[in-house]
Amino acid sequence: MRKNQNKKGKKTIKERVSLLITLIVFINILIFLPFNIKNMPLLAGYVLTKEDIKSNEEFITEFNYIRDNIKYLYLASSDSDLYDEVEKIENLLNEGITSSVKILISDLTNKFNEISSRNQLELEKQFNEINDEKLEGFFEEELITISNYKGEFETLYNDKKYNEAKNILDILKQYIDENKKLANIRKIDEVYEENSLEDPSIREPKYINGILIVNKEYGLPDTYAPGEDPEAREAFERMKIDAAAEGIYLNAFSTYRSYYTQERLYNNYVYTYGQPSTDTFSARAGFSEHQTGLAFDIGGVDRSLWAQENFKYTEEAKWLKENCYKYGFILRYPEGKEWKTGYMHESWHFRYIGVEHSVNFANSDLTLEEYLGL
Ligand SMILES: [Zn+2]
Repeated sequence: MRKNQNKKGKKTIKERVSLLITLIVFINILIFLPFNIKNMPLLAGYVLTKEDIKSNEEFITEFNYIRDNIKYLYLASSDSDLYDEVEKIENLLNEGITSSVKILISDLTNKFNEISSRNQLELEKQFNEINDEKLEGFFEEELITISNYKGEFETLYNDKKYNEAKNILDILKQYIDENKKLANIRKIDEVYEENSLEDPSIREPKYINGILIVNKEYGLPDTYAPGEDPEAREAFERMKIDAAAEGIYLNAFSTYRSYYTQERLYNNYVYTYGQPSTDTFSARAGFSEHQTGLAFDIGGVDRSLWAQENFKYTEEAKWLKENCYKYGFILRYPEGKEWKTGYMHESWHFRYIGVEHSVNFANSDLTLEEYLGL
């Protein structure tokens, strides 16, 4: 009896413990089931087929590719919301891959591919343009530098690193532009040196499209002495009257100069400033546009600014720059075109070429050399 009682007592404790455990397990299931159900396809009533899993993997791979490669694109400001879209998809993916996320990834892929091929086309076009440039008068080491840049570009382009490739292309373009100008200045100096040594009496005036061109390459014979051109003077007088009506007072302080006047002037400058410096602002005899009778040095009311660099800041200079073409004149040595004309900017030096030509120069910094295809 005692034995049985003991046995019976132990059983009761065991039963209680197991009941408690069962209860705890059941409560746990009750608590966690709702949270887990969405992760359990069978319970959620949704079965993932092999195709589903494969397609999900493809979307994830695609998305990861875009996320990792977006930094290699160069984006227009209208494209820059691509980053926001990536972030949005990333956040949504944390909650699982749904059909709406798949649509977002598809849209993102299309946009990415579109920008990517746009980048590619633009770069190809720019690279071809650079490749077609003639690199006359470049130094050997400059050509090597250029070919190194091109190689660097090609590697980046093939790796689809479009923004870095674009960067190299911009640097290369700038490098070529700068050295092209320097090469052109060297060429002008060389030709000038040669031509100014020849006998001026055998020189012939050079006309292109009916326009007499005088620069460091094309000079005039010492016997060429037409005096001031009456048509140019008449045009200047009309311009002067119209300017005055707007409160702008113009003075033509130097127009025609003979070969010998120019010779004296140039030699005086050389005496004061030395030849290299003089050659940037004053022509050697036979190479001055003033000998044509078609060049007018124009100033305003302040005489101290005549033929001075600071003349360019005056109202008169601004008016002339904007209006001279209406009267057949052009600004002969524009700012930033020293490499083309061989002369520093002269905001006071105007050349008469007739309205039929000068209209093509309206509000631009086109040079006569460029206009005539030199
Ligand atoms: Zn002048």
